[in-house]
Amino acid sequence: MNTTVICGAGIAGVATAHYLKKLGSTDRIVLVDRAQPLSFTTAASGENFRDYWPQRCMQDFISNSLKLIRELDDDYETLFSFKQTGYEFVSQDEDREIFPSDDISNDEGARAIQRILSPCLHATRPYLGDNIKQVTQITQAGSFDVYSLGQYLYSQARAADVEFKQVTVGNIEMSPDGTYALSLHQGNEASILKANTLILAGGPLTPKLAACLGIKLPLLSYLQRKIVLNDPLSIIPRDMPFTIFADPQHLSWTDEEKVAFSEDAELQWLLNEFPIGLHIKPESDSQIKLGWAYNRKSEQTEFTAYDDESFPDVVMRGASRFIPGLAQYIENMPTPITQIAGYYTRTAENWPLIGLLQENCYTVSGLSGYGTMAGCAAGELCAQTILDEQLPWYARNFDPSRYQDATIMAEIAAISSDGQL
Ligand SMILES: Cc1cc2nc3c(=O)[nH]c(=O)nc-3n(C[C@H](O)[C@H](O)[C@H](O)COP(=O)(O)OP(=O)(O)OC[C@H]3O[C@@H](n4cnc5c(N)ncnc54)[C@H](O)[C@@H]3O)c2cc1C
Repeated sequence: MNTTVICGAGIAGVATAHYLKKLGSTDRIVLVDRAQPLSFTTAASGENFRDYWPQRCMQDFISNSLKLIRELDDDYETLFSFKQTGYEFVSQDEDREIFPSDDISNDEGARAIQRILSPCLHATRPYLGDNIKQVTQITQAGSFDVYSLGQYLYSQARAADVEFKQVTVGNIEMSPDGTYALSLHQGNEASILKANTLILAGGPLTPKLAACLGIKLPLLSYLQRKIVLNDPLSIIPRDMPFTIFADPQHLSWTDEEKVAFSEDAELQWLLNEFPIGLHIKPESDSQIKLGWAYNRKSEQTEFTAYDDESFPDVVMRGASRFIPGLAQYIENMPTPITQIAGYYTRTAENWPLIGLLQENCYTVSGLSGYGTMAGCAAGELCAQTILDEQLPWYARNFDPSRYQDATIMAEIAAISSDGQL
């Protein structure tokens, strides 16, 4: 019997295992991970989804993924706490085009975008500042419980005889016959696992796995963060939708602070323009969750992401720009603050990398800040590719060979928004 080894049991790896079995793979399938399944980047997910993307390939890919989630189980809403509560983009400019005009989703009436202007918007959103002049709603968006979804896929895979080994992959070598030998270790124990088919699904560590085989992947990793903290002043209503600030901004500082930062090379970045995308939602009974993917500096990936002491202050200052009540927390931050950090591992165009890398070696990676909503379609596409099934049209856009395809490169060159939040 042939053996397929999947390196990495995040959402990409477990979904690939599930769809390989669902689509009829007769291989022995072994999932390997240095830690418990779903415990690395997947555990950092903000658990949001949106069926709204700037390019057709991403739109169809994510739509398919959400369809696959719904098809997993008739009771998916309860099982995965799947809630379509919508997203609201807010702006200080009533004329701002929240989505670029070349955004394909704008053409689709079915995508239900609604624009609400000032003063109407404040009647039902008293928490927003008077400076907010526009709210653009997307209804096909919301949240789900990522761990429940991942566990469901993992349990289905295990029930279909997929094996799991908690080991670290230290090295991978390709044999002349096109098979692979993985050097594994756990504590002091070392072993070799042979694979006829190899799938690299190591999330941020995928480039390191590929490097063992001399393959350089076009992926960079950026640490991004969220914080969860109490909201003792009840600034955020419990039924507030996921709310995103759609304007770039400079944080507000006193004149003394501005002078001090401008003279300190380590702190000058605090005076820079920050990007759009700061987002807030209510969390559990009395907490709030805030995130802002403003980090544009890629870095070497590690298994332990470090806390950034400046993040809570920066994100609270940014958030008070559209929800002024939150300014009360800048000098008096409720504790404890839980910081959740993880890598957005992405290609420059923010499309995933799914397909063949070299003989019998595939990857499902580059899932950036959308991997938990995309997990099912990513796993399905990887499995379809390996099993030589008919592929969805977008497969060519995500195949690692796309960088040699002039037509796709022209599409990539024309991208005006990479859709990152
Ligand atoms: C702060 C943050 C918020 C996010 N919010 C959202 C969101 O709201 N919605 C959304 O859809 N997506 C979100 N994402 C993105 C999403 O979480 C990721 O795209 C997704 O989890 C990536 O899954 P993965 O399986 O590729 O990687 P991982 O989950 O990182 O899985 C890779 C696995 O490989 C294992 N591994 C790597 N190297 C080795 C090795 N050498 N040996 C053994 N095991 C190895 C790791 O231990 C890990 O378990 C967010 C990401 C971050 C960081």
